[in-house]
Amino acid sequence: MKTLTRMAEMQAAAAGLRGAGKRVGFVPTMGALHAGHLSLVRRAKQETDVTVVSIFVNPAQFGPGEDYLNYPRDFERDSGLLRRESADILFAPPVEEIYAQGFETYVTVEQLSAPLEGEFRPGHFRGVATVVLKLFHIVQPDRAYFGRKDAQQCVVVSRLVRDLNLPVEIVVCPIVREPDGLAMSSRNAYLNEEERRAATVLYKSLCRARELMQGGERRAAVIAAEMRRLIEQERQARIDYAVVVDAETLRPVEEVRGRVLVPLAVWIGRARLIDNLLGEEKDGRFSFQL
Ligand code: AMP
Repeated sequence: MKTLTRMAEMQAAAAGLRGAGKRVGFVPTMGALHAGHLSLVRRAKQETDVTVVSIFVNPAQFGPGEDYLNYPRDFERDSGLLRRESADILFAPPVEEIYAQGFETYVTVEQLSAPLEGEFRPGHFRGVATVVLKLFHIVQPDRAYFGRKDAQQCVVVSRLVRDLNLPVEIVVCPIVREPDGLAMSSRNAYLNEEERRAATVLYKSLCRARELMQGGERRAAVIAAEMRRLIEQERQARIDYAVVVDAETLRPVEEVRGRVLVPLAVWIGRARLIDNLLGEEKDGRFSFQL
């Protein structure tokens, strides 16, 4: 595995690979890698010729007072894990390499960035869209791999690619979970033992939502209320949102039909955790991805 820290080196490597007719798979991350990240790397390895993984804790997607400075960082460990997965290139630029002095150009996916995460983390997706666009220019991937755990991010990035005609295919990969259902996240490291136990309430409430829909419940308000009730039973938990939305527009729905997303964001201690359930209706029957 080659480790590159300079944009010019990465761009030159990417140009060389494209020139040699190699298909490049790209996995952008913020490091503190876990099995969720590694599942994306494996998928990229399977589907492309050369796998590039970036580690960059992007200051532009953190709001004031958020955990940018405390975000877990362990470069040596991450690098070892990626080596073991036989990633080909690790791109780990310093902040100044991505945001040079005087940086002032941002890209915004307007409507899709506004609700859900956007409501509680204003500016978050402006930072995400901007860094993803920059990384795509630098790495020039044929395919880029994202986890459905960050469902809104997948929708925002897909729209960015479509609207700006970027020659990259977005591949959305399943959520990797701990044995008790908690979605793997770098932020799970913030949880103490009691909070870690309490954190399973996110998954449990999504299971309950699925169960209601499987039982024929179609009223979004009823499903959301039941999820809130369950989560509120957990003393450690504080809900930012737990809703049922249209999976494409991210707008709230009254009735569950077509493709629906059930996203939630819940604070457990100082960790803000997100998770979601995707439901897809075909011939009157729902199938779910959790
Ligand atoms: P992050 O380092 O949190 O920015 O995540 C980098 C990529 O890994 C994003 O596309 C995430 O959606 C994805 N990811 C994070 N956690 C998981 C998970 N538990 N399962 C699948 N993908 C994940």
